[in-house]
Amino acid sequence: MQKHSVLLKEKLCEGCTNCVKKCPTKAIRVHQGKATIKEELCIDCAECIRTCAYHAKYSRTNTFLELADYDYPVILIPPSFYGQFDGIKPEEIHRALYKIGFKEVRDVAVAAEALSWKTKTYLKDNPGMFISSSCPVVVRMIKILYPELLGHLLKLKAPVEIMAESIKTELREKGLAEEDTALFFITPCPAKNTTIFNPMGIEKSFLDKSIAVDLVYQEILKVLDEEVNSNDDKELITNSTHSDAIDRDKITPIPYKGFSWGQSEGELSLLDDDLSKRTLSVSGIHNVKDLLEELSRNNVKGIKYFELAACNQGCVGGVFNVANPYQAKHNILKLLDEGKNMIEQDFSKYNYDLTKDLKAIQIDRLDSNMEKAMKKLIQLEKEIDLLPGLDCAACGAPDCKTLAEDIVNGRGKRSDCIFVLRQQVEDLADKMSELAHALPPVMRNRK
Ligand code: SF4
Ligand code: SF4
Repeated sequence: MQKHSVLLKEKLCEGCTNCVKKCPTKAIRVHQGKATIKEELCIDCAECIRTCAYHAKYSRTNTFLELADYDYPVILIPPSFYGQFDGIKPEEIHRALYKIGFKEVRDVAVAAEALSWKTKTYLKDNPGMFISSSCPVVVRMIKILYPELLGHLLKLKAPVEIMAESIKTELREKGLAEEDTALFFITPCPAKNTTIFNPMGIEKSFLDKSIAVDLVYQEILKVLDEEVNSNDDKELITNSTHSDAIDRDKITPIPYKGFSWGQSEGELSLLDDDLSKRTLSVSGIHNVKDLLEELSRNNVKGIKYFELAACNQGCVGGVFNVANPYQAKHNILKLLDEGKNMIEQDFSKYNYDLTKDLKAIQIDRLDSNMEKAMKKLIQLEKEIDLLPGLDCAACGAPDCKTLAEDIVNGRGKRSDCIFVLRQQVEDLADKMSELAHALPPVMRNRK
């Protein structure tokens, strides 16, 4: 069963080790010039995709081809998606998606607004410090590397799942058969694609498919370009305030406030003012890891709520996006001015709570058997002492300690370290030179 969305094309890998150094969970090794990913450690953060100059790491999602398999396909737009466009209004994006063939176009930001309300209540009712559970990469990282922080994760679903469940209920109430409908999500990142087939905190995802932002973006531009070419009045396309082409009945109210969730600090901006001095937003997987490290040592005090996003500047930094995260963030901030209030809706209609515990993912770095693990620990310390401690990754492991672990586990050898190898070669050369000059006793001259 597929567990991740970040994949490897081995034949493109040049064995450069750049990805090895960037992977936050030390999931990558290079052996014999080719990278491999340790599935159990991968959190789908996509750092390796960003880093690989040879495009050996990649991710794929569903495509528009699958649209034809359903009578009633619905598409869910994440808040960050609007940041990809400059000067194209949300209504036009909705309209283009209807033209592409979706029967309903829905905004995840609607549920994000509701979740902001729920989070405020949750934080008021529960003492202690909490971490947003909306970024799946962050949740997976905590499960693997910082299980001691699991109790601090907000036990609420991500906005997309809240929205998806609510839409599924609506479709059922409309009398549509389950097999005729499908919920497609426009995903900014591989990790959100993974949550569809490998969910966390719920039994099953209510989403059925996902399509990467870049694919949807291109398709929307195609539709809008065709309209421009077939219409003399280009203003009609770019200025939708007087666009007759929009079927206004179909387009749901635009949740501008909820769009703020698409970029860093956006989730926090919708919380109460009295919380504002006790919240912190951190984005970028290495910054998030640094913070979690400090939190696990109890070194950060006075903060009630953390908004953490694996990608730089939040979901606008997802690897499937087209616009750079700074431009996309700016585009979203501009859109926020369009809506003064949250849209009117009944917040109590959603199911917010996670239905399963978020459990630690146990990785036995040495051995699951305690006795063997203790023996390996002693061996590990010896191996660490024998390696130079330069953490250069030239051995194909991210640092000397990890190579030592691989050696102890029979997956590496000391001579994988180029410095150890060089020393071994020098020692061998000295020995050979010594041997070359050595004469057997019978041949030695007497003085
Ligand atoms: S996606 Fe992230 S965790 Fe997975 S192998 Fe790549 S860098 Fe490592
Ligand atoms: S911050 Fe990045 S990894 Fe996390 S959910 Fe958003 S796009 Fe995905």
